[in-house]
Amino acid sequence: MKILVLIKEVPDMQKVEFDSERGRVNRANAPAEINPFDENALETACELKKAREDVDVTALTMGPPRAEGSLRIAYARGADHGILLTDAKFGGADTCATSKTLAAAIRKKGGYDLILCGEKSVDGDTAQVGAEVAEFLGIPHCYYVEKIDKLTSGHIEVTAEDLWGMKQTRRMPLPALVSVTKNITTPKLPTVRRRLESREIEIERMNLSSLEDILTPEETGAKGSPTKVNKVVIPPEVKRESVVFREEPDGFMDALASVFLEKGLV
Ligand code: FAD
Repeated sequence: MKILVLIKEVPDMQKVEFDSERGRVNRANAPAEINPFDENALETACELKKAREDVDVTALTMGPPRAEGSLRIAYARGADHGILLTDAKFGGADTCATSKTLAAAIRKKGGYDLILCGEKSVDGDTAQVGAEVAEFLGIPHCYYVEKIDKLTSGHIEVTAEDLWGMKQTRRMPLPALVSVTKNITTPKLPTVRRRLESREIEIERMNLSSLEDILTPEETGAKGSPTKVNKVVIPPEVKRESVVFREEPDGFMDALASVFLEKGLV
């Protein structure tokens, strides 16, 4: 069984700066790490590998050349292979172009039974990529999965929590895509041996030419992105004030009204 884990390299959000002139996140000065939700997806794949002998785990990321480092960490954490999808022409991609490019690479490599991803990234935070990848591949998908109940060579059964907290059990034929929440498992630290090995492993690289028979330059990067950001503004910091009313209930409404009038709220 071949499992593919989508991992995104994200900047450490404690250290990231916002370039308000260009309306973009300035990732250049912030250290990079694997999106924390994707660590859960990777750990889930590694647990499935431990439970079944036939599982082979590949981590795939689309990003700049330095994202190779995250694939080495993915290996140290238990992945068998890493694929880096990188090309200057992929730059400026919105979620649609990102997903189309990832789906093209997945189709090109072929043969994956299960694709796992995180429920969202901590920087873009749209939670769109997983579902879009599945739609471009034409395979079933399930979001907010907190437990994989059963995995056979033909089907997967999962427990997912919807936005209102209801739990649902779903069964999907493979190949399928599953996006996991943080509740699914706790990522373990890599061993020293795997860390050392990760420095030596070969990371496969793919670029636009690798996909030229299934993806055109117009479908990827800024050219393939229907989202156009006109302006990005940082909202002004909201000043919070509190007023404590000590009046008896009878006088309370008058006191409240006078505060509203005084603050110009009515
Ligand atoms: P989500 O949908 O929240 O992620 C869900 C899951 O999908 C993740 O947990 C992960 O498993 C998987 N996933 C997401 N992204 C990747 C990936 N790259 N590789 C593998 N798996 C992934 N970003 C830039 O870095 N440079 C740019 O120049 C740039 N230009 C942009 C221009 C526009 C107009 C817009 C709207 C966005 C741009 N972005 C850019 C942001 C970029 O679109 C998102 O980072 C990307 O599409 C992923 O979306 P997300 O972070 O919301 O992921």
